[in-house]
Amino acid sequence: MRVSKYVSIFALCLMAASCNSKKEAVQSSGIDLANLDTTALAGGDFYQYACGGWMKSHPLTAEYSRLGSFDLLAENNVKQLQGLIEELAQKKDQAPGSVAQKIGDLYNLAMDSVKLNSDGVTPIKAELEALAGLKDKSEIYALIPQFYKKGIYPYFALYISADDMNSSMNIIQTYQGGLGMGERDYYLENDEKTKEIRAKYQEHMAKMFALAGYDADATQKAVKAVMGIEMRLAKAARSQVELRDPHANYNKADLATLKQTYAPFNWDAFFAAADLKAVKEVNIGQPNAIKEVCAVINTVSLEDQKWYLQWNLINSAADYLSDAFVAQNFEFYGKTMSGTQEMKPRWKRAVNNVDGALGEAVGQMYVQKYFPAAAKERMVELVKNLQTSLGERIEAQEWMDAATKVKAKEKLAAFHVKIGYPDKWKDYSSLDIKKDSYWANMERANLWGYKEMMAKAGKPVDKDEWLMTPQTVNAYYNPTTNEICFPAGILQYPFFDMNADDAFNYGAIGVVIGHEMTHGFDDQGRQYDKEGNLKDWWTADDAKKFTERTAVMVDFFNKIEVAPGVQANGQLTLGENIADHGGLQISFNAFKKVMAAKPLAKETGFTPEQRFFLAYANVWAGNIRPEEVLRRTKLDPHSLGRWRVNGALPHIDAWYEAFNITEKDPLFVPKEKRVSVW
Ligand SMILES: [Zn+2]
Repeated sequence: MRVSKYVSIFALCLMAASCNSKKEAVQSSGIDLANLDTTALAGGDFYQYACGGWMKSHPLTAEYSRLGSFDLLAENNVKQLQGLIEELAQKKDQAPGSVAQKIGDLYNLAMDSVKLNSDGVTPIKAELEALAGLKDKSEIYALIPQFYKKGIYPYFALYISADDMNSSMNIIQTYQGGLGMGERDYYLENDEKTKEIRAKYQEHMAKMFALAGYDADATQKAVKAVMGIEMRLAKAARSQVELRDPHANYNKADLATLKQTYAPFNWDAFFAAADLKAVKEVNIGQPNAIKEVCAVINTVSLEDQKWYLQWNLINSAADYLSDAFVAQNFEFYGKTMSGTQEMKPRWKRAVNNVDGALGEAVGQMYVQKYFPAAAKERMVELVKNLQTSLGERIEAQEWMDAATKVKAKEKLAAFHVKIGYPDKWKDYSSLDIKKDSYWANMERANLWGYKEMMAKAGKPVDKDEWLMTPQTVNAYYNPTTNEICFPAGILQYPFFDMNADDAFNYGAIGVVIGHEMTHGFDDQGRQYDKEGNLKDWWTADDAKKFTERTAVMVDFFNKIEVAPGVQANGQLTLGENIADHGGLQISFNAFKKVMAAKPLAKETGFTPEQRFFLAYANVWAGNIRPEEVLRRTKLDPHSLGRWRVNGALPHIDAWYEAFNITEKDPLFVPKEKRVSVW
């Protein structure tokens, strides 16, 4: 699943962290009063009001930079996966080549600290030496795809996915990259915090090179070389906000144009090494980034590029080597960048990595044991009701003309819905898991994923493929297939509860379903038609009105102060904020309809409408470290949990009615200033 990070799917919440789980007392209303802090005012700080009790009883532990109620669910999933995986790992003599042998052996290697520590840097030693022995820059072109096959992406990334302008066909695509810190802002911004992270990155690199056996002099040269190259790549990279423009990311070139425009670069050697034959066209996601790669390869000394390539290898392999490497890796990426105090225990890291390498094999066992058929049935009904509701909401929009409404409803009717798990599973029979080393197996697992992806080049898009594993606690919308996907992992408390009433389930998973549906109509998704093509189906006037209406959302979030002196990024989070807004509107509308047929009573002191909004807020209950607030504000297109509640609800009329919020309340937004779209 390494590749899907380049595909522009719009997920609900990424990068889940987790913690020790505690069985929540679930009432038939689904609302746990212990989650609330009723000393807070609903109209003053609804997040505190709805989630204050939860936040107090779930303090951050050393292992987490953020701990939310859905992270607890993810934590529970990890324990379930551990049970499944360990059962296989403990049995000796699994049939060679069976999935059980592969999962079991990989897990045992990940857990074998004695072997990992005695191996030290050995698993990558020969590769490092080969890189140090490069004789000529011309070798780099064929070397880059050799890195891709190991799951490492120096200079830039290559992937295969749907052609935005011809969505039924796959096309070869490139994406900017090659940065050890992942995001260009860490290289370019000059506030104190960023400067400190940049300095620590260099210290970190030096320590890693030292662990890999280099002396102080070599280490110093290496750090300088890597920073020089990464700084150039960062300067040529687009910002997170710029990357949200699908048209700007679409720059299809035939082979002749490619060779002429992005030069000098030995594309023939590159494609041959990438196992791509008869390449006719490529989509260059970010042209300036690739032009700079050409310039870097040509102008930077071979010596410096050797250091850069060695750093890419060390950095990617670190988590699969000895404890010293793993600890130093955590020191920078966990502690410095995210504020996490303590590494996850070995078994959790092992489960996550086995899950990453053999995702659908693990997923198949997971759904057999943990996903009840009844959950799928109820989800099918919820999705159907939400789909009807969105149709009604589209029809009710006064600012949109009839022509655009017809197209919008066609797109809605064409949604491809995936629930629980895929109909056909990935086949891991060609993946060998051997007893040589943990890293060697991760290389083979990445090679397997690489081959699977490359086999798609120039072929029709497989619309039945899943871009998340079924055990994932998340959901997504994919614009090029016009699909919404809800893996089994998310269909549990606090999102979904078979034993809870409609107020709870519409407030929690209902809003999630509506959120994903609305992605088809957010500032990015609306640019794709019902076939998944990047083709404008809006009248010019309606497009203008949409932009004006969503500008209210951008301004509102831009004014939110997430930390002293730090504002939220309304442009970066626009798509997700529109999706939350639409999700709330659509699900509440659907909820009122089922209530009309099947009324609910007041329970635990709250009306059904109030419980809808409490269930919604409780999904986002969480604690977070200051470092993580800054990191996510830089790169996460989702608003922080607090603002998915306190920023979203003041634009929902029904919330004002449910809690009797008036102009005297701090969260009050006058009706004419509220966002009104979908
Ligand atoms: Zn989303």
